[in-house]
Amino acid sequence: MTPDHPTAGAGALSQQSWDVIVVGGGVIGSAIAHFLAAEPAFPGSILVVERDPSYAKSSTALSAGSIRQQFSTEENINISKFGYEFLNAIDEHLTGGDEVPDIGLVKAGYLFLATDHGIGILRENHAVQRRCGAEVALMSPDALRKRFPWLKADDLAGGSLGLGGEGWFDAFALLQAFRRSAAALGAVYVEDEVIGLARADDRITGVILRERGSVACGTCVNAAGPSAATLAAMAGIELPVRPRKRLVFYFQCPDPIADAPLVVDPSGLYFRPEGGGFICGMPPPPEDDTDSTDFDVDYAMFEDRIWPTLADRVPAFETLRLRRAWAGHYAYNTFDQNAVLGPHPDVGNFLFANGFSGHGLQQSPAVGRAIAERITFGAYRTLDLERLSYDRIPARQPLREVAVV
Ligand SMILES: Cc1cc2nc3c(=O)[nH]c(=O)nc-3n(C[C@H](O)[C@H](O)[C@H](O)COP(=O)(O)OP(=O)(O)OC[C@H]3O[C@@H](n4cnc5c(N)ncnc54)[C@H](O)[C@@H]3O)c2cc1C
Repeated sequence: MTPDHPTAGAGALSQQSWDVIVVGGGVIGSAIAHFLAAEPAFPGSILVVERDPSYAKSSTALSAGSIRQQFSTEENINISKFGYEFLNAIDEHLTGGDEVPDIGLVKAGYLFLATDHGIGILRENHAVQRRCGAEVALMSPDALRKRFPWLKADDLAGGSLGLGGEGWFDAFALLQAFRRSAAALGAVYVEDEVIGLARADDRITGVILRERGSVACGTCVNAAGPSAATLAAMAGIELPVRPRKRLVFYFQCPDPIADAPLVVDPSGLYFRPEGGGFICGMPPPPEDDTDSTDFDVDYAMFEDRIWPTLADRVPAFETLRLRRAWAGHYAYNTFDQNAVLGPHPDVGNFLFANGFSGHGLQQSPAVGRAIAERITFGAYRTLDLERLSYDRIPARQPLREVAVV
């Protein structure tokens, strides 16, 4: 998994001062670099610093690669609406030589299920989603049984099915497509690690690279994924974003399950078709959801919690065969599970694109565009994402996303 386009290797950089330095070249950093480089009103230079161009441990490469409209906050719904439009016509948006970006977008809905306990929230979310123009339908337990005969619905009060604008795709291919496009438009990628930030009062004046030493910048963007808080701390800034491990299991089932959407069970478990089988995952209980940077897979979790829940919801899953599993990390915003976007209130040339908590991949097109607008024009031009600014943290005003998968 190495990129197939140029990265400045061990050599010196072509210049020691850059208009914008993006720290982290994952899907978020690369989307920002693409939109900035594509913006005619931005004439500046862009350096993307990525410590591991294989991306083997990045959130992006390890993600479940899905997009949905079914959120509880208007911003997230509008962000995903743009995200889907972008992904659906990706070859019209991205450049990169002869290679046509192919992210293998599968158009299929999410199905959020609710018991009596959760049906109120499901209906509230549905109202917000409809107001934002999302194509979603509430379904009764009978309607669910009819549409998905393999689903056990006895304990359910209803479900919400996405009818458009949802699906899944190849996350790594999207990252590479953004990266290729950014590089083709003039952004420079360098393999190195930012180990320090130079701050003079209310400005970041540069970054310190492990291999190449000090490099000056006009603007610094934090796109460091689960390491975002570590980077912010280098400027003396606290960011409530923690690395939280999430496991993904791939299994196959001998009995066919027709037309499965991405199902989100009331327990928090999700599963969706993938290749000839399914992937699934489940958040750990809150008391076990501590900071973690290892990649160990807890197979007992599958045996003890996930498989029984799967088989309760879909009896055919009794006979499933677990094939493989992996671990990745959410950049989990412990404050309100939502992105933190835009400039720091006191250090105006330090911009956040962090804390996506499990929905950053689908948000990359809108976030890339928004941060590019912020840098170029000093304001958002398309989607107003002001409520996702850092300011809400010291103000203790969370913008809570309740539909976190
Ligand atoms: C198991 C799992 C399932 C997920 N499923 C979905 C999903 O279905 N849909 C969805 O939308 N999202 C999903 N997500 C979330 C999504 O993957 C992330 O929000 C998104 O990939 C974040 O991208 P990023 O660029 O911010 O982070 P990353 O992809 O982690 O990129 C950050 C990069 O920064 C680099 N970096 C960090 N610090 C430094 C430094 N000091 N110097 C240089 N480089 C540095 C790292 O090497 C890394 O490559 C999932 C995540 C996981 C873990």
